Amino acid sequence: MPSKTDAIARPADELRYPFENHPGVDQVVEVAPGVLWIRLDLPFRLNHVNIYLLADGDGWAMVDTGIGNEATIAAWTALFDGALKGKKISRVIVTHAHPDHVGQAGWMVQRFQCPFYMSQVEYLQGVYHQNRRTEERLVNSRNFFRRHGMDEAITEQLLGRGQDYLKKTVPLPAAYVRLSDGDDITIGTRRFRVLTGAGHSPDQVMLYCADDGLFLSADQVLSKISPNVSVWAHEPDENALGSYLHSLSRLGELLPADVLVLPGHGVPFYGARIRIKQLSDHHEERCQMIAQACRDTAKTSAELVPVVFSKHKLDAHQTGFAAGELIAHINHMLAQKRLTQSLGPDGILRFRTA
Ligand SMILES: [Zn+2]
Repeated sequence: MPSKTDAIARPADELRYPFENHPGVDQVVEVAPGVLWIRLDLPFRLNHVNIYLLADGDGWAMVDTGIGNEATIAAWTALFDGALKGKKISRVIVTHAHPDHVGQAGWMVQRFQCPFYMSQVEYLQGVYHQNRRTEERLVNSRNFFRRHGMDEAITEQLLGRGQDYLKKTVPLPAAYVRLSDGDDITIGTRRFRVLTGAGHSPDQVMLYCADDGLFLSADQVLSKISPNVSVWAHEPDENALGSYLHSLSRLGELLPADVLVLPGHGVPFYGARIRIKQLSDHHEERCQMIAQACRDTAKTSAELVPVVFSKHKLDAHQTGFAAGELIAHINHMLAQKRLTQSLGPDGILRFRTA
């Protein structure tokens, strides 16, 4: 935590990363009294996820659990035999239904016989991900990507990737305790306000302890990368980006400048409000790129992917996210009446700047 003199000497809104090094897979770092940071590997270009343990009486409340693969089970087993030896998990709180966060919840709850907390929408979303590989859903997803002008090869690649990624969870705990926006939850000696936000996932849980200036931001506000905000086939007209920007502006109003942000990926940081502004500006820049590209000729989402993501070399995992993310910008701009859409005789949607 910064000292009082630090706070006076520094501009209040400045991005600062108080920890130079992240923990290795077998290490635990205390980031605040009674708050432990663990970092687990992920088999993607985004190669890690953060887990936090919060002191909770004679045990520890775990926030997020890692992806549901064998390597993560091995990492947890080694941690409980090593850096976490003798520590008991009192409860498992999962921020959202993505497999890098919920993936090991079933394993952890089984091992410690402890309660499991999620928001209702995220829990049901997790149940949905585990049961989504049905023929009707594949047909719906295929039609969705084709309507956005993705060719057959890309569409099949997207369907394969999505199924594979979302399967990476061990079976979800069969029962949960519901967390809702505005709840107060006591963990050890601290009181946390539960905040939820949409955009990255439908009702992602964040925890804010005003007394100690701690904000567990999950994937809503990340330190260095922009969280994926995508539209998927099961809700093709969703304005996910509008919801995300709304959540960001609410957080920007609520959070003080000196809160320590503990994100789901990347490193802890100060400067929440400046980071929130950077994230909203980033999305507005992308909207402007789309508006520019659709000014003279109507374009499909597939044609706009390289306009917005030209600087990036995308692997298969990222290509899937890029398509969904592009469509999120389109839907937001349609909602703002910055674009108009038309469905061609070929069954493909095209967008034009209004
Ligand atoms: Zn994540």
